[in-house]
Amino acid sequence: MDHSLTRLLIVLLSWALLSSCDWGPPDTTTRITGSTMGTRYELKLAPAHPQQTIRADLIKTQAEELLARINRRMSTYDPDSELSRFNRNPSTDWIAISPELYLVAAEGLRISELTHGAYDITVGPLVNLWGFGPEPRREQAPSDAAILQARDQVGYWHLEAHAQPPALKKAFSDLYVDLSSLAKGYAVDQLAALMESNGIHNYLVSIGGDLRAKGHNGKGQSWTVAIERPEPGQRAVERLIQIGDHSVSTAGDYRNFFEQNGRRYSHIIDPRTGRPVLQTLASVTVISKSDMESDAIDTALMVLGAEDGFQLATEHRLAAFFIVASVDGKRFEERYTPEFEPFLLPKD
Ligand code: ADP
Ligand code: MG
Repeated sequence: MDHSLTRLLIVLLSWALLSSCDWGPPDTTTRITGSTMGTRYELKLAPAHPQQTIRADLIKTQAEELLARINRRMSTYDPDSELSRFNRNPSTDWIAISPELYLVAAEGLRISELTHGAYDITVGPLVNLWGFGPEPRREQAPSDAAILQARDQVGYWHLEAHAQPPALKKAFSDLYVDLSSLAKGYAVDQLAALMESNGIHNYLVSIGGDLRAKGHNGKGQSWTVAIERPEPGQRAVERLIQIGDHSVSTAGDYRNFFEQNGRRYSHIIDPRTGRPVLQTLASVTVISKSDMESDAIDTALMVLGAEDGFQLATEHRLAAFFIVASVDGKRFEERYTPEFEPFLLPKD
């Protein structure tokens, strides 16, 4: 689904910072980690009261079953997933799908419409052509003819979704749906729901740069999350945020890219040009109630860029934080919507 490997766009700092202090209440946070979707997942769980026991083994098993199920439904890296089978199916009739796949595809279509196709879940042929899909990485840009051909296969208006019974319909056989931009966010929402069903109401769950929080950590403090400074090969903090009972997702082009002749080609593709986004917007962080939405919107804003993206975020009152690089790439400038401001901790 996402092969950005160890692209942790957001560093979780609270635990590391606070556990280095030897004063204050003991830290009762339980931490569970593992691999999924080309990156790591992490569950940080805190009991509601000292008597509540958190059964880490049981929760880890349940979480990994949940992640495996989601991958089996919507990963384009698994050739047997429900989505891969849909993509290979040449039929242009209605194709029955699971309610879960419908939910994610429908949200993807909603954001595709909202952005008039800057974000587009049928972008798959271009993602694959540029070597950011399941096929091996490439070291060179594809030819113009190949780009035009793949671009002709892209367009969310060629995909129809039906809720009851859940089904999808392609306008032509080669339409290829890529849900990698929001499936990780959906999985984070489902991990949060799993914690709730286990009676755990204090958690910070994450997959790569997608997180969702509720309540407090094992020291009784609000969960604090860092927005990373978007420098390749480095891990530095740009700003700290406290997200309360919200989700946060970051997209950026500073980890997952290839370089040719000094040019950097990002894994986020502008379907309108058929090419990776080439611009000074280094990363975008979005906070909302649903991580599926945050995850789709961060990718959408990356495509739209520092100007149009900021305008869309402002118009729709989205909580978004942009890090814009100077032309020489040496300095970064922050820009955020009024909705984002309440989450920001002051700079020291
Ligand atoms: P990551 O998966 O690295 O965390 P994102 O959430 O930003 O990052 O999703 C990037 C993925 O989204 C790409 O790997 C690709 O599969 C897909 N994608 C690329 N461009 C677009 C686009 N314009 N619209 C929708 N999805 C896209
Ligand atoms: Mg995304």
